[in-house]
Amino acid sequence: MLENMNRLLKEATEKGYGIPAPGVNDFQTLEAVFQACSELKSPLIIDCVQRNDFEAVADMTKFLAKRYPHVPAALNLDHGSTFDVCAQAIQAGFTSVMIDCSKEAFEENVRVTAEVVKMAHAVGVSVEAELGYLGTASQISEDHRNSFTKPDEALEFVEKTNVDCLAVAVGTAHGFYKGDAPRIDLELISELKKTLSVPLVLHGGSSAGDEQLANAVKAGIAKINLFSDLSSAGTDAVKDFLNQGKTTILGFMPLSMVYGVGVEAYKKMFMHYIGVFGSANRV
Ligand SMILES: [Zn+2]
Repeated sequence: MLENMNRLLKEATEKGYGIPAPGVNDFQTLEAVFQACSELKSPLIIDCVQRNDFEAVADMTKFLAKRYPHVPAALNLDHGSTFDVCAQAIQAGFTSVMIDCSKEAFEENVRVTAEVVKMAHAVGVSVEAELGYLGTASQISEDHRNSFTKPDEALEFVEKTNVDCLAVAVGTAHGFYKGDAPRIDLELISELKKTLSVPLVLHGGSSAGDEQLANAVKAGIAKINLFSDLSSAGTDAVKDFLNQGKTTILGFMPLSMVYGVGVEAYKKMFMHYIGVFGSANRV
């Protein structure tokens, strides 16, 4: 069943597990994550970035939600940059949107987020926002900590915007890290959880390390965004498969079979993370 993120995240927060939120945009990977959640009995949040075709992703997700009716799922716009983009996602059928004005000044982030919340709530759509700044993993610098989410600011932000959940900057970033993964500030997560009444979201889950991620969930993270690890597991499997040079009786390998190898590896990695976040057997 397709729903907004509120009930899913509330339950995850109360019971102390994390919901995996894969960044997907094509039918095969979408079905792979629905299958994985169906097999492991996990809730699912699909994240879709704004460069994708909203109508196509929404229609594919609605179709799969009917095919796997026992998987509680939400379709969330990931890092929507403007009010208009969020409205377009909602019109296409998204059940949740993220408005990301984290690069703007605090007051501007509050202003735009509050506008999106007002519009989205009018039609039963949940809203995620971001406070603090994550950036890209390959560009992390020494002053990374300065951009971490501050609990007092976060409280003011949630009160002023009425947002449903908050993506926090606590050490992770998007993409793969150069060298070792950075330390996730677990104390800060605990403090944010104590301070705020809304569920917490961790972006940049990939390559942060299973133990750190499991501890981040224990400390209070309810949704973990994943993209790079899933995607690279799939593409690595395709590379290996092609290097083996196998062909069918036709003398070549149909594209769907090549892609199928990638999707299997993608699904396997996704199921691994369901285990790390403790979301199996929750539905
Ligand atoms: Zn993100």
